[in-house]
Amino acid sequence: MRILVVEDEVDLARTLRTGLTAEGYSVDLAHDGRQGLWMARTGAYALVVLDLMLPGLNGYKICAQLRREGNATPILVLTAKDGEWDQAEALDTGADDYLAKPFSYTVLVARLRALVRRSGTAAPPVLAVGDLSLDVAGRVCRRAGVRVDLTPREFAVLELLARRDGQAVSKGDLLYHAWPDEAYDPNLVEARVSSLRRKVDTPFGRQSLQTVRGTGYRLVDDRERE
Ligand code: CA
Repeated sequence: MRILVVEDEVDLARTLRTGLTAEGYSVDLAHDGRQGLWMARTGAYALVVLDLMLPGLNGYKICAQLRREGNATPILVLTAKDGEWDQAEALDTGADDYLAKPFSYTVLVARLRALVRRSGTAAPPVLAVGDLSLDVAGRVCRRAGVRVDLTPREFAVLELLARRDGQAVSKGDLLYHAWPDEAYDPNLVEARVSSLRRKVDTPFGRQSLQTVRGTGYRLVDDRERE
């Protein structure tokens, strides 16, 4: 189960990631509001832990925007005691629960579990583009039924391309998704796409992972060409 933590206090965010990973969750981090909104929109998460006071875009606006777009991912808001937004306002924007800082880690984990139970969050979907499938929860990739072993970064790149279903995805978006903590370096993406092609395309005589000149990449169902 994947959780998105949107928190600009990097130490706190990393502590949360370490703790929640030990609880068996997969955790992605966003350190500013715009990145957090963008990542939450992918719909890849069973739950979002959202700080309210964030650079770029505050949590109050992120929450309201997600609900306006019909995104129903459960959101647990972290509020500072003397924060600009109080708990009532957080719930008004569509958050499902809140926790005031400083909070007990044990309480946080208990609240997260309760939220997931209440929301009855279904298992994340299996994404499919042609005969390539990605089991997001199990982190399993298959081509024509054959299991293909991917590194976590490769899986993240392929997952975002699969979610966009044939649409071009920029190198910047792929970087944000797969290397949220890294500075912009297109070489990271290019190298990962090359290794992905060697795994999911070449052995199967396929060309599904295509370069879109001037933009980035897309993942298509290329079976009809055969
Ligand atoms: Ca903050």
